[in-house]
Amino acid sequence: MIKNDCYEVYIEDIGNDGEGIGHIEDRQNGKSFALFVKDTLIGDRALVRIIKVKKTYAYGRVEQIIESSPYRVHPVCEKARSCGGCSLMHMSYDKQLEYKWNKVKSCLERIGGISGVDAIMEPPYGMELPYFYRNKMQLPVGRDREGRIVIGFYAGRTHSIVDLDKCHIGHPVNDYIIKYMRKWFRKFDREDIAYSEESHSGLVRHILTRVGFRTGELMVCLVINKDELGKSEGESLVCLLKEAVKEYNTSKDTEQEIILKSVSININKEKTNRILGSHCKVVWGRSYIQDYIGDILFNISPMSFYQVNPVQTKAIYDKAIEYAELKGGETVWDMYCGIGTISLCLAAYAGKVFGVEVVPQAIEDAKENARVNGIENARFFCGKAEEVVPEFYREADSDEGKHPDVIVVDPPRKGCEKVLLDTISFMAPDRIVYVSCDPATLARDVKILSDKGYRPEKVAVFDAFCQGTHVETVVQLSH
Ligand code: SAH
Repeated sequence: MIKNDCYEVYIEDIGNDGEGIGHIEDRQNGKSFALFVKDTLIGDRALVRIIKVKKTYAYGRVEQIIESSPYRVHPVCEKARSCGGCSLMHMSYDKQLEYKWNKVKSCLERIGGISGVDAIMEPPYGMELPYFYRNKMQLPVGRDREGRIVIGFYAGRTHSIVDLDKCHIGHPVNDYIIKYMRKWFRKFDREDIAYSEESHSGLVRHILTRVGFRTGELMVCLVINKDELGKSEGESLVCLLKEAVKEYNTSKDTEQEIILKSVSININKEKTNRILGSHCKVVWGRSYIQDYIGDILFNISPMSFYQVNPVQTKAIYDKAIEYAELKGGETVWDMYCGIGTISLCLAAYAGKVFGVEVVPQAIEDAKENARVNGIENARFFCGKAEEVVPEFYREADSDEGKHPDVIVVDPPRKGCEKVLLDTISFMAPDRIVYVSCDPATLARDVKILSDKGYRPEKVAVFDAFCQGTHVETVVQLSH
């Protein structure tokens, strides 16, 4: 197989990142090569140009779709193919749900070693309207080859920015923010107004926005490569953002009034891929916005983690509550609790809730969120779960909390540290509810917990990242 050669390939499977997978025979040695082709779907017959050859597999680029898959749809966004945000937008929504459900199933079988897992898997929970669902946007800012300012998303697997005027998965107010931010950039038309990754110079790196879908509150935070925004830069920013919101509120796009509540900067002077630096400063208004999940009000600051799909978040938390099977009076741990969202939602059904989270600001928010909502049976600890929980288990003198009835974990993609899983098994809860954003690490951890006597009983798959490849899963394990 030679780079740049073209082959006709039937796409028979789909990979982890949503890419199509086909096979071609190497005529010289009769070996079958797996070929990974972005932008193709199961059922496509395509002409594919080889772009990279490895020992047993190769990557190709689609040149022409010869016969279209029955699952192929016309993406609603014209930038879908170049933009890295929505790699499944050309796939029918039902097929997207099936793909995600199968991905979880296959991980639990292959990595988790659970046979017949489909018997305990609920049908996938999708969205009625799988667009305009994101409450948070992180838009990189830069310049294109001609030196024009670009605002948008990274192209898949690269840091070149696809310029966008409209995003079909973000809240529609973002389109207006992008429009008015372009005005702001034009006003301060200096060479160094936009950040350049290459030279690590220039001011604005990212525009971060968050919208409370229930309250309509809006936060805009500019991530900058400096300690301050100039006075006139700041004033003009606030002024233009107010105009953006006003135009949105009087447009045909508006379904709910948006209220600008917070304009801030985040200082990130590091040469890093991380979007946020460690400090924020308020430019105008409050340092946070507020939003509800169910009946509980949350304060959300730019740095703290808050699930990006509010409709599915509610569904996921409801499922976690259902799988916890609380009768009232139980002791529950919520590990990786963020700003206390799951902890506080569970508090009404439990005797006592302990939350643990590594980001200090998030723990401050969690405590404040408990206070604001008059919730008195939640206690929060700051630190790494894999350090705080084993220490608590060793040192707490009373049994309270050491032997909870239920433990909920909701770790980041890398899953739980082994020592945390060991401690969880010593704590011996009746049930573990594992909320996961990565089926591979979920399956790895489920296997470890199974070896310690916990059996997966129920699995629910949620599409919280419609049009993208990520998936959320909730698993109930019982002792
Ligand atoms: N349950 C929360 C947050 C889940 S995201 C919610 O639904 O909103 C995972 C959280 O784990 C993040 O808040 C992250 O800051 C935190 N985290 C990451 N590593 C951690 C660790 N080692 N110990 C404790 N928390 C950690």
